[in-house]
Amino acid sequence: SQHSMEQYLATLNEPQRQAVEHIEGPLMVIAGAGSGKTRVLTLRIARLMELGVEPFQILALTFTNKAAGEMRERIERIVGTEARSLWMGTFHSVFAKILRIEGERLGYSRDFTIYDTDDSHSLIRSIVKELNLDDKLYRPAYVHGRISLLKNSLISYREYLSNPIFLAEDEAAQRPHMGTIYKMYQERCFKANAMDFDDLLFNTNILFRDHLDVLNKYQHRFQFIMVDEFQDTNLAQYWIIRKLANVHRNIGVVGDDAQSIYAFRGADIRNILNFQKDYSEAVVVRLEQNYRSTQVIVEAANEVIAHNQHQLPKRVWTSNPRGELIKVIEAWSDNEEARLVVDDLQEQKFKKQLSNKEIAILYRTNAQSRAFEEALRRAGIKYRIIGGISFYQRKEIKDILAYLRLALNPNDEEAFKRIVNFPKRGLGDVTVDKVLIVARTEGLGLWGALKQANRYLKGNTLSVLEEFTVMMEAFRLMIQERDAYEVATEVVRRSGLLKEYYEDKSVEGIVRYENIQEFLNGVQAFVQDPNREDKSLSAFLQEVALLTSADEADDDQEAVSLMTVHGAKGLEFRQVYVAGMEEELFPSYISSATLEDLEEERRLFYVAMTRAKERLTLSFARKRYIYGKLMERTPSRFLQEISPIYLDWRGTSPYNSRAYREESDTGLADAIRQYKQNQSAIKSATYRPPADFQPSDIHLVVEGARVEHKKFGYGTVLSLEGSGDEKKAVIDFEEVGQKTLLLKFAKLRVH
Ligand code: ATP
Ligand code: MG
Repeated sequence: SQHSMEQYLATLNEPQRQAVEHIEGPLMVIAGAGSGKTRVLTLRIARLMELGVEPFQILALTFTNKAAGEMRERIERIVGTEARSLWMGTFHSVFAKILRIEGERLGYSRDFTIYDTDDSHSLIRSIVKELNLDDKLYRPAYVHGRISLLKNSLISYREYLSNPIFLAEDEAAQRPHMGTIYKMYQERCFKANAMDFDDLLFNTNILFRDHLDVLNKYQHRFQFIMVDEFQDTNLAQYWIIRKLANVHRNIGVVGDDAQSIYAFRGADIRNILNFQKDYSEAVVVRLEQNYRSTQVIVEAANEVIAHNQHQLPKRVWTSNPRGELIKVIEAWSDNEEARLVVDDLQEQKFKKQLSNKEIAILYRTNAQSRAFEEALRRAGIKYRIIGGISFYQRKEIKDILAYLRLALNPNDEEAFKRIVNFPKRGLGDVTVDKVLIVARTEGLGLWGALKQANRYLKGNTLSVLEEFTVMMEAFRLMIQERDAYEVATEVVRRSGLLKEYYEDKSVEGIVRYENIQEFLNGVQAFVQDPNREDKSLSAFLQEVALLTSADEADDDQEAVSLMTVHGAKGLEFRQVYVAGMEEELFPSYISSATLEDLEEERRLFYVAMTRAKERLTLSFARKRYIYGKLMERTPSRFLQEISPIYLDWRGTSPYNSRAYREESDTGLADAIRQYKQNQSAIKSATYRPPADFQPSDIHLVVEGARVEHKKFGYGTVLSLEGSGDEKKAVIDFEEVGQKTLLLKFAKLRVH
């Protein structure tokens, strides 16, 4: 109702209100973490609807389907059920929907399959095999990554093959056949009536480029276009929205250049600059007040991100309470790290009466979750892993999905390969290859080749394959008359999948059997959802194919969330733990090679820190198992980029010596003065290698050496005592006089 909209508007600050009340013309909100960008976007949509804009005239693109769902709910609370007709979702889901409707223009049928990463890899593997290439050189993940980046940059295989620069690049990388693979990959997908994730964007661009009537239709339909997390759009996405916005020019984007973390997938921070060029008339709103986090967290995060050279100038502040210091937990091993984190978590839960869902543990790589899972399980704390191996990636679920996919799209080769001989029917690779070769060489497509199997197969093989084909045909007919649940139950039964797992009484078999039941429950829930118009199998499969890792989160509301930092984008929790703050892990070893990569890692750390509302904890281990070997670890350089005044760094490890504590206890006033002096220096700071933490640097600290300390300034080493981790130096500082420092922590630079 009108009333609640006004209530909402009253809570906004001036620039927020300006953005919410903006109606026509381009708008860009570039602002720091937690400053209310997503909230502004949500309220702007609600307001437009209250002003009479029809929901189907508004297109809103979010980063996960879950974010879209939440946004829709909030809008619904203000404007009512009309909100359900908004065009809202991820780029991939919205454009998959459009391609379903319009894909025939490009030669795809309505029931095209969406290939997931496994399908893509399997297809690449078979192409590499057919071409007799070295599969170590042409690894599926590598090839797929390259193709993906090309498509997200809108480079077709035709352009690729006709441009000698690409060939030269590939030859230099010892992979001269990349172009051929790219071409075959696209052709195979097309013949199989399938698109991979990147095709959903790539093909939408082609659709709009080559079919102006279609473009025109959507240009007129979408009077208002809005994009959240704009900093992570890639070129393909940017071009789509730019074309769509060309008629009304009502395009509103919100984002934060400091949170751009998908460059490795082709996201291009330059889109922010492009936007300013393409829409020079755009109203630009800056939000500087953070409503999410404490002062300590906001200031420490500012300090970290200031180390990046490439960023738009921006000041983020908050009037929230000062808050607790950022706790640093230092552990001997990765297992101890998990234990200490869970101990702290339990203490906090008790002290502050937190519920599990207000807590998150973030890490850089999925592999780190294991230790935390164990520690949490031992402590009896409920948790959920977001991302990682998801339900729909499990073998048994992918098997059912493959049956369903093939039933819907009988040319889906990857689905066919997966299940033609599962459960076992005695159809070997030779037979499968024969079918596929006939399908390709005679242009019949897979289904055509299956129907004519009597031409090139005989005997038992033929009759078994025919039986399979008849079964699939029966499924196909069912799809036209029944809903997704009825089809799925029938497929599970008749295919023999259920029996296969029912008879397997191993623990794994039992779990799989339960998962299949769980899957059927899910399909049933889908069909019974009153808000859903389309209950067809096709609609169900599309939804499953486009689930992002953050979407499966809501099963269990009362659990601690475990996820990678990438998965945490846009979310917030009262307490956040960031684990594995070690060199070569965070920043990751692949990413610290160039300045650009390092800056992306730093933005990632910025994202991690700014998820926390009240309390942030950073942890690291001194030793960790990496590829089965126990390795010595060095604390992350990012820890040093936060002034000690924001840190509560008391470990339980022997490193927590008295000398170290004395150092960190020196008068707070001093530290603050020093900090303020450093502020200007930090602003212009450029990247330096992390000399301070390198153990080798310790060896450079010799009697008479001239050293620099972050807080105490310049000094000369008078003498040394102790050895190894206990090694201390007596230093005469020019400003503060004589001090004894533990070298492990003294953060000295040697001049
Ligand atoms: P991120 O960069 O992490 O995506 P964001 O800029 O999108 O953050 P929001 O998630 O919209 O920020 O808002 C952060 C928090 O601040 C939310 O809990 C939101 O409800 C709250 N918030 C935003 N603006 C206000 C306001 N004017 N008054 C009170 N709370 C606010
Ligand atoms: Mg947001």
